[in-house]
Amino acid sequence: MAKAPKTAIQPTRAEDYPEWYQQVIRAADLAENSPVRGCMVIKPWGYRLWENMQRALDDMFKATGHQNAYFPLFIPMSFLEKEAEHVEGFAKECAVVTHHRLEPDPNGGLRPAGKLEEPLIVRPTSETIIGATYAKWVQSYRDLPILINQWANVVRWEMRTRMFLRTAEFLWQEGHTVHATSAEAIEETERMIDVYADFAENWMAMPVIVGRKTPAERFPGAVETLSIEAMMQDRKALQAGTSHFLGQNFSKAQEIVFQAESGEREYAWTTSWGVSTRLVGALIMSHSDDDGFVLPPRLAPEQVVILPIYRDDAQRAEVLASVESLRKELTDQTYAGVPIRVEVDDRDVRGGEKKWHHVKRGVPVRVEVGPKDIEKGSVFVGRRDQPKSTGMSRSEFVGSIGRLLAEMQQGLFDRALALRQSNTVDIASEQAFREFFTPKNEDQPEIHGGFANCFFASEEQLDPLLKELKVTVRCLPRGGEEESGTCFLTGETTKQKAIFAKAY
Ligand code: AMP
Repeated sequence: MAKAPKTAIQPTRAEDYPEWYQQVIRAADLAENSPVRGCMVIKPWGYRLWENMQRALDDMFKATGHQNAYFPLFIPMSFLEKEAEHVEGFAKECAVVTHHRLEPDPNGGLRPAGKLEEPLIVRPTSETIIGATYAKWVQSYRDLPILINQWANVVRWEMRTRMFLRTAEFLWQEGHTVHATSAEAIEETERMIDVYADFAENWMAMPVIVGRKTPAERFPGAVETLSIEAMMQDRKALQAGTSHFLGQNFSKAQEIVFQAESGEREYAWTTSWGVSTRLVGALIMSHSDDDGFVLPPRLAPEQVVILPIYRDDAQRAEVLASVESLRKELTDQTYAGVPIRVEVDDRDVRGGEKKWHHVKRGVPVRVEVGPKDIEKGSVFVGRRDQPKSTGMSRSEFVGSIGRLLAEMQQGLFDRALALRQSNTVDIASEQAFREFFTPKNEDQPEIHGGFANCFFASEEQLDPLLKELKVTVRCLPRGGEEESGTCFLTGETTKQKAIFAKAY
């Protein structure tokens, strides 16, 4: 019997998807668990990727008129109490600081001491503390709009955590804006979800669906939540970013009041929007394969790694000189408007091991250069999206590197889109809905249909069925508002059409 080809990651995606995910993170050296439950250590390769994401997003925020600022980590408990829905939504997962020093415990060790008069919450999100500050800044319509973003860490005491996708502490950005009119705030909410969709598709090569959340899935305290939803390779949905229209809910809770042009005193209109280190998890689950991480070239910390090959010191000098000139030629080339990022890996590590190191970390292009290649003016090129390496002329390789990376980036997007399209169906009956979400194979309870497009009349009516099947409403896709059809559960005529899926 033919032996199955051995993969760098064990188990494979088909064997055990959740475990495969953990192993890719480990093999790519992206992050590791920390001594604190639910918190992770982001290692340099993972952090460089996050920095590239940050940089691209930050440029997009600035291009849409925003500035960065920084607000405190701690929120007085009384601030959270002011917006009823908000506190209800976050109370279950708050880290609370009650003391401000330690003292020796008579029974040994230390104990907290110096009880605070008012407990402080470690921010799970910053609407309340930022809103309280904005209330002081806003006096007149001339002070508006306020368009501010902060890069920060937040803490949500999540019970079931998974590296990057859901952690107790995570890194993110949160935009918080204030406007004079409802229309302007709605426009901002839409603009920012579009920025996220642009980033997801054009940087992460991850196709997304933009839509509205149903009331039950909204951000606590929001009037409307927009989200981008992506399909992972196991056909589950991942909410990759959110933009909230908060109406006047937070401005009323925090007294963000301004004098309008008419002279009237009015409550302002606010928005907030965020994406987090979850996006790293989204990248892993969108593109990686059974040999490890696959990075979209546009975000890859290194786009090309050069592997010099030599036997002795004499060869070494010759090969390294050639490699250095190749590195220089490559960095003179550009992809997506910036110089190509090139690394030379001259570590004293066996050839095979070195190659696999970079395969598992997802580096888009590997180039081997040895004495024979130098003689022939050629290089040996391995693409992360193709199994076989090929020889080609050095000048041809250098001249085409920008195009090659662009082609790989597009290839990843096309493949992810094809996966989503072939696993999305329109469903019009309860029976078909049940079948779609019932695993076909008991050994793989995770594998099921994918995305179901359905008309539905009422979220409450659906609730028991969704709970039973562990399915959620992802969003009401934008653009579908004009259609009408019949509810897949009750047969009523309705204008609400949503995507249903199992989700992370
Ligand atoms: P929210 O403030 O709840 O709208 O969350 C903003 C973004 O942060 C969402 O789009 C999520 O993708 C992400 N997010 C929420 N909770 C977590 C978590 N526990 N770990 C990582 N990312 C998260």
